[in-house]
Amino acid sequence: MAGSKRHAQGTNTRLAHIGNNPRDYFGFVNPPVVHASTVLFPDAGTLVSRSQKYTYGTRGTPTTDALTDAVNELEGSAGTIVVPSGLAAVTVPLLSFLGAGDHLLVVDSVYGPTRRFADTMLKRLGVEVEYYDPRIGAGIASLLRKNTRVVFTESPGSNTFEVQDIPAIAAAAKSAGAVVMMDNTWATPLYFRPLDHGVDVSIHAATKYPAGHSDVLIGTVSANAATWPTLFAGFETLGTCSGPEDTYQMLRGLRTMGVRLERHRDSALAIAAWLETQKGVARVLHPGLSSHPDHALWKRDFGGSSGVFSVVLDGGGQKEAHAFLDALEIFGLGYSWGGFESLAVPVFLGDRTIAKGPYEGPLIRLQIGLEDVEDLKADLTLGLRAAGGA
Ligand SMILES: *Cc1c(COP(=O)(O)O)cnc(C)c1O
Repeated sequence: MAGSKRHAQGTNTRLAHIGNNPRDYFGFVNPPVVHASTVLFPDAGTLVSRSQKYTYGTRGTPTTDALTDAVNELEGSAGTIVVPSGLAAVTVPLLSFLGAGDHLLVVDSVYGPTRRFADTMLKRLGVEVEYYDPRIGAGIASLLRKNTRVVFTESPGSNTFEVQDIPAIAAAAKSAGAVVMMDNTWATPLYFRPLDHGVDVSIHAATKYPAGHSDVLIGTVSANAATWPTLFAGFETLGTCSGPEDTYQMLRGLRTMGVRLERHRDSALAIAAWLETQKGVARVLHPGLSSHPDHALWKRDFGGSSGVFSVVLDGGGQKEAHAFLDALEIFGLGYSWGGFESLAVPVFLGDRTIAKGPYEGPLIRLQIGLEDVEDLKADLTLGLRAAGGA
């Protein structure tokens, strides 16, 4: 469908047509939602050799294929697995590649539950876990060991938005024989394509922008040709397949992700720049702002910014942060992001060992939804006033 020979198609054209071919299913625009465990075989020989396209529900269906074909096209990957949450998109590849005695390097500004998984389950299984400075760049060479099996990156970092020099980190890791994984949830493959920058395994909490409506939990993991067999073997062994309805909903979300992301991007940039000028704000942590210390690196590597960033209040502590949050009327207080509605949460940095500041005051993470920018600014003004700034 998307393979027109005439010219390279734009992002939104591709998003509208990648994945399933309507001609494969009577011309219906969308693929069928296949509910399946058992798949029947025509004879015993085919059954024991499993020599037909579909063999069991956990190993893929026409619905999962429609989605993984679409994601492979966006990521430039050899293969993609679809798992039941963004967190599973982190844990399944780590479990697929790591074993006892291996050394794992993880960026210190990693998503909190990824850290918990590394510090509890991976350590219990005999993996040595070490955290590195998100701004280490090529300096990661000094941390790489003979037994470093995986370097786990996430850029920009969760909540504090440090941008990593992914090409430099990937080059160093590769020459030491380590597999490079990246949690690319913030940018989506529309604004950063990890595999084009030396990453082996690209991870997405598709719960966020791809699903886009705060009602689906799903994750994708996409691998290059060298790492795909190991990733797929781990996925099959663990049995962590996504359900058919969620798989379908993510493909549905992809169709509009381009236009939604443009709106999230523009509104978030406008609000971030405005917040920088407001009394009561010490700093805004958004890599798309020229004031951000990693702005040049972000500009070099990324094609855009999404709708999540943090604001540092000018002094105060938990009391001021809670006053800010409790004064908001449009922004909801709740975890996750990537849906149509704006959200705010206080940021906890107590588990960090390196990327923890110092900051001038409490951090609040904002997800800018699809509402009107002027309404969101008015709401944030209520928050700043309540925190004592304006
Ligand atoms: C939300 C998030 C996840 C986990 O996604 P869930 O679907 O909520 O499990 C993983 N990584 C990052 C960076 C996230 O923001």
